[in-house]
Amino acid sequence: MLDDMVDHLQGRRQQPVWQPLPPDVRDGFRQPLPVTGAAAEDVYARFRETILPYSTGNTHPRFMGWVHGGGTPLGMLAEMLAGGLNANLGGRDHAPIEAERQVIRWANSAFGLPETAGGLLVTGSSMANFIAVLMARRAALGQDSRKTGIGNAQLTAYASGGVHRCAPDALDMAGLGSDALRRIPVGPDFRMDLAALRAAIAADRAAGFLPFLVVGTAGSVDVGAFDDLHAIADIAETEDLWFHVDGAFGALAALSPKLSPKVAGMERARSIAFDFHKWAQAPYDAGCILVRDQADQIATFASPAAYLTATARGLSGNAPWPADLGPDLSRGFRALKLWFALQVFGADRLGAVAEQSCAVARHLAGRIESEPELELLAPVPLNIVCFRYRAAAAETLDALNAQIVADMQEAGLAAPSTTVIGGHLAIRAAFVNHRSRTEDADALIDAVLATARAAVSQAV
Ligand SMILES: *Cc1c(COP(=O)(O)O)cnc(C)c1O
Repeated sequence: MLDDMVDHLQGRRQQPVWQPLPPDVRDGFRQPLPVTGAAAEDVYARFRETILPYSTGNTHPRFMGWVHGGGTPLGMLAEMLAGGLNANLGGRDHAPIEAERQVIRWANSAFGLPETAGGLLVTGSSMANFIAVLMARRAALGQDSRKTGIGNAQLTAYASGGVHRCAPDALDMAGLGSDALRRIPVGPDFRMDLAALRAAIAADRAAGFLPFLVVGTAGSVDVGAFDDLHAIADIAETEDLWFHVDGAFGALAALSPKLSPKVAGMERARSIAFDFHKWAQAPYDAGCILVRDQADQIATFASPAAYLTATARGLSGNAPWPADLGPDLSRGFRALKLWFALQVFGADRLGAVAEQSCAVARHLAGRIESEPELELLAPVPLNIVCFRYRAAAAETLDALNAQIVADMQEAGLAAPSTTVIGGHLAIRAAFVNHRSRTEDADALIDAVLATARAAVSQAV
């Protein structure tokens, strides 16, 4: 299995990025529950035939859709070791918990948070942002609100219009309703309009709402924009709001001397959500919530239970337990792949991967600007390029660009995704994978032009 997987990763560039599941393969997943066991070799053969060729494709250098990391063989091996240990990181006194604490301390120091800071590894930034909303909610309503709920409090939160959809979802899950999130308009640079933010807070206060949270975005999912985090931190201070940063992928710009000015002010946040499974290339899943003051985390999540009480001695020692820092009790050893990666690659090499993705994005933007049939639909401040094919009748462009993307994906040539920018459907190429090079951006241009020309000539 190990040899096959290493070969698979090594030959990835020569394979299609993605291929749709044939119907008979999909049907194979509808078999009834096996009552008697089968030989592991036979089931492994089934894995090679029906799963391996039909994965998302994010290990491929020409996968550019959404925001997906590429993973590493080192991460794969660490996952194997973690599986062998079968550690439960909910609590108790064992080295795997120290490894997670070390990873959290490394992340806090990389982002400039103080010694009081804490954090927790979670599935992804969706969960990390949710945890931040829960901490901010408790800070606004007081400790009793954990027992009594939110009552009649009309809490409101603020984020840029480009905020990830998990932010309104987090408010919904926190019982505040997604309408509690005020989406502040962005300027032409896709950063939150700060005058509009101040005005929205003032209007809400005047109307009897209780503003409690402002979310700064570090690397927006559409175009890779960074809000002015220092300015937002100032406003949060004046207005007494919890300042949270969603830096799902962009926070890791802090690891690159070239990119780190973009996250200036992030070190003033009370909490930061980010993912190791995006720019840091850890295998899924590896999200992280960092908290400026670990006391906020404990106050939000710790609960007494006789069968889960930490003691001064023995295996029940080592408080505070991770189970008191977030919603999960049983937790796997996600930290091990990060403990390996941060030591083997070092912060510098992870920062260099971020820089390389931005260089590939700039190369792609340059190619688009020199192709008359293509146009950029947004600036390229980071690693994300939004553009479209424009050499057809204006009213057909949205459908045509959607078709180009689906055709390229199904042909296995390249896998960008789509978004909507300024009312236009955009082809969106996000460079996150450490394997992507300028030649992959060139291949995307070739594929877009060939696919578009074929589609246009067929339509005529
Ligand atoms: C990916 C992303 C998220 C969600 O993170 P998951 O790890 O997918 O849960 C949130 N915000 C931004 C800006 C993202 O890019």
